[in-house]
Amino acid sequence: MKIIDRLKKDGIHISFEVFPPKTDEGFDKVATATDEMAKLDPAFISVTYGAGGGTSKNTAKIASHIKNDLGVLSLAHLTCASSTKEEVRSVIKNLKELGIENILALRGDIPPNVSFPDKDRFRYAYELVEEIRKHGDFCIGAACYPEGHVENDHKEDDIRYLKQKVDSGVDFLTTQMFFDNDIHYNFLYRIREAGITAPVLPGIMPITSASQMKRSQELSGTVFPRRFLAILDRFGDSPAAMKQAGIAYATDQIIDLLANGVKNIHIYTMNKPDVAAAIMGNLSEIIKA
Ligand code: FAD
Repeated sequence: MKIIDRLKKDGIHISFEVFPPKTDEGFDKVATATDEMAKLDPAFISVTYGAGGGTSKNTAKIASHIKNDLGVLSLAHLTCASSTKEEVRSVIKNLKELGIENILALRGDIPPNVSFPDKDRFRYAYELVEEIRKHGDFCIGAACYPEGHVENDHKEDDIRYLKQKVDSGVDFLTTQMFFDNDIHYNFLYRIREAGITAPVLPGIMPITSASQMKRSQELSGTVFPRRFLAILDRFGDSPAAMKQAGIAYATDQIIDLLANGVKNIHIYTMNKPDVAAAIMGNLSEIIKA
């Protein structure tokens, strides 16, 4: 089933995310995490694509396990900057053979040691979207950035390029993590004004440790509101307390989104079924209301 068809159904849709193992030995551990997450009845589970493309085989394997063994919709991420066009085509072919119907099409970060742009590589995600469309009837998701993508000085440019990407064949969008919902509401207003009508899944990252906050900031360039910084200041040195506070903060963000009419939410669960379970437990009645 395509994710876009699931999102069109009534009710609240909450999805999770895992990252693939770096080595084949790590497969069972990640598969077990997905088994636990599947019990929470997510709308789908997405599987990231390792920077550099080195773990592409494991992305496909985990996505196939989720779909074919667990009966849960899976979304395989695919990046193109770190691979040649031919390599990307062979990954798409493999996903098709495994019966994966949903792909999150990404450019990925530009690797430091390759010539880029280059005629043998797709330059932007929209080119990858066009390519995937040539290979079959996939449901295609793409990334968007409520605080703007780090490479763009102006949000207007980012939104213009986002429109081009969506128009090239994107079915839905997932946002970069954010910690202040007003940023998301503002972004939604701007993209709807720009004529982008695709469903947008806000990406919520439960921050459960001080080190994770640092990593998230480096990755996304996101702004942490004072309310979050106070939590970190008070509980950052107590792992159990920080975890509980991080789960509560993410829950609070989700409740606010749902209260404001958002129906689809993606949680960056990062191979942590206990965190996914805690949040879903906090929402058990809310998602039925
Ligand atoms: P694009 O949409 O191509 O945009 C890249 C930059 O180019 C932006 O600044 C954009 O405004 C600009 N741009 C786009 N089109 C044009 C144009 N025509 N002319 C000029 N400029 C243009 N990374 C991974 O390695 N693996 C993952 O699994 C992964 N998953 C992600 C999931 C989500 C939901 C998000 C938000 C990000 C994810 N990333 C992942 C990170 C992502 O790969 C990086 O943020 C990357 O730098 C941009 O990818 P993109 O697909 O958004 O690129």
